[in-house]
Amino acid sequence: MDINWELTAEERAELDRNVFMVTLEQVKAWARSNSLWPLTFGLACCAIEMMGTGSSHYDLDRFGSIFRTSPRQSDVMIVSGTVTKKMAPVLKRLYEQMPEPKWVIAMGSCATAGGPYIKSYAVVKGVDQIVPVDVYIPGCPPNPAALIYGINKLQEKIRYEAKTGKKVMSE
Ligand code: SF4
Repeated sequence: MDINWELTAEERAELDRNVFMVTLEQVKAWARSNSLWPLTFGLACCAIEMMGTGSSHYDLDRFGSIFRTSPRQSDVMIVSGTVTKKMAPVLKRLYEQMPEPKWVIAMGSCATAGGPYIKSYAVVKGVDQIVPVDVYIPGCPPNPAALIYGINKLQEKIRYEAKTGKKVMSE
């Protein structure tokens, strides 16, 4: 019996509506970007805004982000506050304890570049001198909406890199 494999226009439209193809990497990136678990890493005043982001009013959980207290359960480090030189080795060690793939958000002007303490001998002028940073959020302090925006940008970055295979520069 001859089978006619030609699709009618109606069947083709039905396929276009219901079938889409992606790579396994894209599926993994979609899952990862929607379940980012940040390591609680408050170092100074910016941490208060980070805590507010997890509160019921801003409800960070709706993006799949749930704060963890262990680096081994985390895939994103939100550095919120002033990084002192004394704290720098601890920060690096915690980063190294996080499993791959992992990302870093520098929240606020202190974590980004030293902030108001830029002239202090005791402060690191940006956490990117210790660990690689994926997203920078300006402000002193940035409010919870700004942190949520930064997390959304990181989600976009993860999905874009999986789709194109290209590494995106820090935003
Ligand atoms: S950026 Fe401003 S609010 Fe944030 S830790 Fe530094 S001084 Fe505090």
